[in-house]
Amino acid sequence: MYPHSTAEGTHMDGCLFCKIVAGDVPATLVRETESTVAFRDINPQAPTHVLVIPRVHHPDAASLAAAEPEIAADVLREAGEVAKEEKLDSYRIVFNTGSGAGQTVFHAHAHVLGGRGLQWPPG
Ligand code: C5P
Repeated sequence: MYPHSTAEGTHMDGCLFCKIVAGDVPATLVRETESTVAFRDINPQAPTHVLVIPRVHHPDAASLAAAEPEIAADVLREAGEVAKEEKLDSYRIVFNTGSGAGQTVFHAHAHVLGGRGLQWPPG
């Protein structure tokens, strides 16, 4: 896998979420903006479980924020819009970072979880 630039930004060959952005892997889309895509998680952990991803490839949220802070802000704003559309009073935005924290897809993404009680601290 290696990153390459296109007119739309940086993409990573072989990256599952870059393939979803490109429409090469199906996903149940919830919202789209110029810089982000939101879709339902295929293995939902709550009644609402939506992923918000930047169209550009960065391996995790902190890398995205360091390189393209305005797009990191777009991801957060969209997470809030998803929560509003899903009518969530309370919800959690999660950025798993690193395999030890449960990250399995190394393309930055926010999990938006809600629709049930959420425990603290998380497991
Ligand atoms: O934080 P983590 O990297 O584990 O999150 C990746 C998420 O992507 C998982 O919750 C997984 O269910 C989801 N996924 C998906 N569609 C795919 C592959 C994975 O929603 N095609």
